[in-house]
Amino acid sequence: MSIFETIKAAVSVPQAAAYYGMKIQRNNMTRCCFHDDHHPSMKLNDTYFYCFACLEHGDVIDLVAQLHRESHYAAVQRITRDFGIGPNSPAPAATKPYSPYRDSDEALCMSVLTDYEQLLKRWKQDYAPVTADKPIHDRFVEACQMLPSITAMTNILFLPDADLRARLVRKVMQDNTILRLKERLDMLREEEADDHESTAAAA
Ligand SMILES: [Zn+2]
Repeated sequence: MSIFETIKAAVSVPQAAAYYGMKIQRNNMTRCCFHDDHHPSMKLNDTYFYCFACLEHGDVIDLVAQLHRESHYAAVQRITRDFGIGPNSPAPAATKPYSPYRDSDEALCMSVLTDYEQLLKRWKQDYAPVTADKPIHDRFVEACQMLPSITAMTNILFLPDADLRARLVRKVMQDNTILRLKERLDMLREEEADDHESTAAAA
């Protein structure tokens, strides 16, 4: 198998799309990265994508190349690196499962990431600047900065592919991302609880 064929057999279009941060809706529709798309016009099938608006279509390598505005060669290198695929990789069916990790790790990641995502989404609305003369609230800034990467990670945790979920879980457990986020989340909750107490006391 060529490296192109290996990639296409190992990584589905929706997997790559989610991994690289595209927001995928329930029906596998997403906003097209080939034209300025305000409503999801692109349909992601397992082995190809198709845009109903601009009619672009292609495979997983075409998609990743366009997403990163890079050549197909660079996209192949990116995918092989990020998904751990080598030219001598065994056929996907023969691939060994990734080293086991505890289900409780995945549950922890899911709870921390989704809780933090909900909090940030709320902040993005509640602390959005209303008038130009007031300084922008720190919580709004944090929401804008953190939401894209947090959402990209939660999207992966909702994928049916257990290997892909396991890979993310192991990475964020090993590099302590999850523990740092959990500490941050606990601190923010305390801050918010204090806010409520002081407003209650003032009233
Ligand atoms: Zn399009």
